[in-house]
Amino acid sequence: MERSTCDVLIIGGGISGGSLLYLLANYTDIEHLCLVEKCDSLDALNSNAHNNSQTLHEGDIETNYSLEKAKHVQAAAGLTKTYALDVAGDDSMIRRYGKMLLGVGDEEVATVRKRFEEFKELFPTLELLDADGIGQLEPHVALVDGSLRDEPIAALHNPEGYAVDYGKLTDHLVKTAQEADGKTVEVLLSTTAKKLKRVDDGFEVRCGDRLMHARFVVVSAGAHSLLLAQKMDYGTNLSVMPVTGSFYFAPKVLDRKVYTVQNDKLPFAAIHGDPDLTAPDKTRFGPTALVLPVLERHNAKTAWGFLESFNFDNDVAAVLYELMKDKDIHDFVYRNLGYEMPYYGKRSFLKAARKIVPSMQVEDLEFAKGYTGIRPQLIEKKERRLMMGAGKIDEGDGIIFNMTPSPGATSALDNARVDMNSIASQLGCTIREDAFKSVFNQSAQVTSSTTSDVGHM
Ligand SMILES: Cc1cc2nc3c(=O)[nH]c(=O)nc-3n(C[C@H](O)[C@H](O)[C@H](O)COP(=O)(O)OP(=O)(O)OC[C@H]3O[C@@H](n4cnc5c(N)ncnc54)[C@H](O)[C@@H]3O)c2cc1C
Repeated sequence: MERSTCDVLIIGGGISGGSLLYLLANYTDIEHLCLVEKCDSLDALNSNAHNNSQTLHEGDIETNYSLEKAKHVQAAAGLTKTYALDVAGDDSMIRRYGKMLLGVGDEEVATVRKRFEEFKELFPTLELLDADGIGQLEPHVALVDGSLRDEPIAALHNPEGYAVDYGKLTDHLVKTAQEADGKTVEVLLSTTAKKLKRVDDGFEVRCGDRLMHARFVVVSAGAHSLLLAQKMDYGTNLSVMPVTGSFYFAPKVLDRKVYTVQNDKLPFAAIHGDPDLTAPDKTRFGPTALVLPVLERHNAKTAWGFLESFNFDNDVAAVLYELMKDKDIHDFVYRNLGYEMPYYGKRSFLKAARKIVPSMQVEDLEFAKGYTGIRPQLIEKKERRLMMGAGKIDEGDGIIFNMTPSPGATSALDNARVDMNSIASQLGCTIREDAFKSVFNQSAQVTSSTTSDVGHM
């Protein structure tokens, strides 16, 4: 077997792995980097534009974010926005559509108004719209047969709202890393990392037909990360609950992203309507949220990996029991099960979509076949709670594992910045602060993730 070495080995060629490869190649003095990806292309799974909602989450329209959280989320998203707009400068990768938070009914209208007062300073381009204002921007949201819909509505509108093709962004980050001066950056596709073993001065990992020695390893393998961690006895306090998300297409009825007020108990439940960078003549509605026993949708072989990292025991059972006892959550689970059924699914989904576009008809909806991803939600077993945000295992001993449910794509560069700091301090390397600041207008020195404790499905 061929043997090779590198300083840092990154496992996973999605937006998380790509972001870290870019930061290490461009802003540290680490010389030899290697990224391995088991599929035959980068961004084949959750980071692909078909498999997520393409939203750059900045915290203004996500009602599960408090003002304090929104400040952090805005800064994290700022890195992604700066890279896509200024470094890549490719308008097929990022587009400004604008975004809306829609409130329907008296209670939600009050929530929207209150949020406007609280958030307008942090988001100076935010505006509050009444039904007429909404009708001018999004007639299909406000009007039915030319007249205002029956229920009271109000919305927050921010023209500064972006859709990002996180797959294209990944490709660009990796290409930029490979072009970095004086660096060796290897990218191995169709190469599965297996049998991670701690050895003197680092790790040995089977990467296809090579035995790779790395001084440091970062596992950014999406839903597979926890499985790899547990094979090395890390993260045994965690269990993974894979929540798949699918979408429906409708003809183009929206010009911007339209989100709705979320149920506080289910910060992840509400579907939204979005323009799609890859299907400009359509509006995409979703995602649904269905728990399935696989780590990749439509890949039954990953069921075994799920079983291993589900790590079922009394604590997991207790968390699931507590969740299902709650009527809102129980109903939500069954509703989402229905959304994916033939014939009934479309009709059931229509009810949810009509909150956004009240005149929608069943024949307008078409299940978006093949558009689906997995959000690896984590269960903290000892504390018996479902974690909503991303998970990271970094014990300062040469290996990091990243678990990245939504909105992991928005915060991938921010999360990679945290890993870059940890790697630099553990390996004794230098971070080029000035170079980072001149591109991103933020400091490279961040030691803890700002977004890990917030998230949604
Ligand atoms: C329905 C849905 C909607 C979403 N919407 C949004 C949104 O609007 N905005 C947002 O910010 N986020 C969103 N997200 C979340 C976002 O898509 C993910 O957080 C992000 O893509 C995760 O990126 P990643 O690189 O960590 O993982 P992935 O993209 O899953 O990449 C992991 C890679 O690791 C590879 N891999 C796994 N095991 C191995 C191995 N042993 N060896 C080599 N390679 C391996 C996989 O093949 C894969 O390519 C959404 C997710 C879903 C499912």
